[in-house]
Amino acid sequence: METTIIIPQKTNAPSYVSYSAKPTVLRTQQTSKLEKWLVSFCKQLTLFYLACITIKKPVQILKAYRQLMQLRRQTWGAQVHKMYKVDGRYYNNLYNPGWPSAAYNAFLKDELLRHAFPLQYTGRLSMVFFAITRKCPLRCEHCFEWDNLNKKETFTREELIKIVDLYQQQGAIQIHFSGGEPMVRIHDLVEVIKHAKKRSECFVLTSGFNLTATNAKRLKEAGCKGVVVSIDHYIPELHNGFRRHASSFEQAVNGVQHALHAGLVVTLSICVTKSFIDGGHLMPYMQFAKTLGAHFVQLLEPKNIGHYANKEVLLEETHILQLEQFFKSINSDKKYKDFPFVMYHGFHQRRVGCYAGSRSIYIDSAGDVNACPFCHTKSYNVGDILRAKRKQTPMKENRCPRFGKIA
Ligand code: SF4
Repeated sequence: METTIIIPQKTNAPSYVSYSAKPTVLRTQQTSKLEKWLVSFCKQLTLFYLACITIKKPVQILKAYRQLMQLRRQTWGAQVHKMYKVDGRYYNNLYNPGWPSAAYNAFLKDELLRHAFPLQYTGRLSMVFFAITRKCPLRCEHCFEWDNLNKKETFTREELIKIVDLYQQQGAIQIHFSGGEPMVRIHDLVEVIKHAKKRSECFVLTSGFNLTATNAKRLKEAGCKGVVVSIDHYIPELHNGFRRHASSFEQAVNGVQHALHAGLVVTLSICVTKSFIDGGHLMPYMQFAKTLGAHFVQLLEPKNIGHYANKEVLLEETHILQLEQFFKSINSDKKYKDFPFVMYHGFHQRRVGCYAGSRSIYIDSAGDVNACPFCHTKSYNVGDILRAKRKQTPMKENRCPRFGKIA
């Protein structure tokens, strides 16, 4: 039986523009239809060329290609039309490197080998989420790092760099720096990014704290590609209440503008709670994100860990169905072509499994290595590896306990 979900178009909630310092909006650079077609064509050629030089055997090439296309369909659930050009690179997925770049080619080669030779492939790590600090000025309702926060720092700047080296040797193509609030360690962060950018695309996950115009420029100059700014509501008071900080909304909105002006890829990340969905806030939030000029919006489901441990926060079936329909509709319906790209992991996780455990890991602010930020599945501590002066980490035995892993 088919379920029809109505996406709320209106809400009685006050507009976010009640925020007094209305932001100066910087429009995202739209990609024309012709440009999109040309870029897609060139990407297909790149895929074909890389398949020929890495796989070599025609039958295996065809097999890997088919599987990649199938995985793409299952990940997005619809034909997706959006693409953004930021600083000379084209992006149509927050978690794939921009094209053209060496990182993009490395990512594709990795995926091709993974699908062509699943039995022989030993599994490189392509993505690392790395919490570089335990300090944070906020007290967010959903914080998954809650039990680690505001204790003595685990790693010095030199150790952070060594950890980056360790995972780059294993193939980390993208590194997302988080915390705590990574911007409290802006001086260390800039130096770590300068070091990491030679082999990985770097992103910073922030609440917007300390994301001033100067710091956004420093991140960009260091080689950072983008920021993921957490904004959990378009109504300032509700966002500030969620984050337990009176000026968090203002910092986040200003941070978004500074990041856009600095030429960074900008994603808004939201923890989509039951009350947010039931209150009809999804579409107004997208309008808000569009007005701010964000490239991506990431929908995160609340998980009962950290500050949400033992709380009834998991979404119900009806919420998930609404999010799935919303995700497909915003990304593929032509009437939303000017809206940001929506990322929603829950969609592919429920169909094909989770990328965490096969492609990505999360190093928390205590150095414990988990499958992802939302599943506390510690398999080792990276501090132990450093102290033992080992050049290799253990095999990645941690996997997503909820959805399993994608091959
Ligand atoms: S969720 Fe992030 S910003 Fe909020 S308290 Fe936790 S570490 Fe800080």
